[in-house]
Amino acid sequence: MTLLIDNVGELVTNDVAIGRGPLGILTDGALVVGDDGRIAWVGLRSAAPDADQRLDADGHAVIPGFVDSHAHLVFAGDRAAEFAARMAGEPYTGGGIRTTVAATRAASDDTLRANVARLRREMLRQGTTTVEIKSGYGLSVADETRSLAVAREFTDETTFLGAHVVPADTDADTYTSLVCGKMLDGAAPFARWIDVFCERGAFDVDQSRAVLTAGIAAGLGARIHANQLTPGDGVRLAVELGAASADHCTHLSPADIDALGGAPADGTTGTVATLLPGAEFSTRSGYPDARALVDAGATVALATDCNPGSSYTSAMPFCIALAVREMRMTPAEALWSATLGGARALRRTDIGHLGVGARANVAILDAPSHLHLAYRPGVPLVHTVLLDGEPT
Ligand SMILES: [Zn+2]
Repeated sequence: MTLLIDNVGELVTNDVAIGRGPLGILTDGALVVGDDGRIAWVGLRSAAPDADQRLDADGHAVIPGFVDSHAHLVFAGDRAAEFAARMAGEPYTGGGIRTTVAATRAASDDTLRANVARLRREMLRQGTTTVEIKSGYGLSVADETRSLAVAREFTDETTFLGAHVVPADTDADTYTSLVCGKMLDGAAPFARWIDVFCERGAFDVDQSRAVLTAGIAAGLGARIHANQLTPGDGVRLAVELGAASADHCTHLSPADIDALGGAPADGTTGTVATLLPGAEFSTRSGYPDARALVDAGATVALATDCNPGSSYTSAMPFCIALAVREMRMTPAEALWSATLGGARALRRTDIGHLGVGARANVAILDAPSHLHLAYRPGVPLVHTVLLDGEPT
């Protein structure tokens, strides 16, 4: 069954060969989804071929589905009280992760699964068609392994984050050895990526290097939580190891910006700077310097960092609005970063754009233009979402 999506007032393809500007925009466009759930044709509606079915976009904007390349969805419990305390003036230190670890260890598989399913549905309703899901609230061989097994039920983009925080009953070096050994052995069959929280109070640069190197040796791709709360060596470690992404990038030196600017990502190589403005919003912290990264030539992605402590939002449109208002990205840059930027951070070329051959992961907006995503913050503008060409 083929499907013609017709009467698209503004079609964002993210393919500069198809349309105008960096978003490859077509006015009065159309696209055809083939039997295989991939884009079979894209162009002006006046030239559109016939298809078995027709979906009328009613003159609205159509964009690629969002690619949320950084989310922590396998957990139990809620930290609303901690958020309220923080808003009342208490600082964020990252120590609350242990609260979620206790709740996650105590939860059944079914409880964890139901929570991921709920958040995945929430994301889909808001236009997110691909999500990366990390472990990191188990911190034992058994709990990290089962967290990843649950995550794998929902996405192929699963990330082993055993090195999220050092559990209370051990020290960082002993725990790092466990992460690089038995825990990695348990997790690797369910993971595509390995990640580490490189930060004062979590894992230092040598421990982070050990974790990522062990993961790479086990066949996983590398990504890192770097330079979130303090300056440090995480970003440069990411570039040195050829990690797909350095995430947060809130406290960058000129050398960090140069390193990311010198390693732009094309979907197969390079290190993306993934910015997570929901975390700065929810911890009332200063935002990363997106402008400096873009101007240096870095590939920038936007993601939610959805987690119960420091950023409990699942909304990519909200992150786009923050990126535009607070980080001085243009609306076009922010949308690109939330779609094709996320795809680059996951080293995927089949998502994040609507060129021929791409997966038909599509969001139809209740708006005439992508500009409305930042112009109308907090408004549910995602009207219809297709996943591999199927309505969700
Ligand atoms: Zn994170």
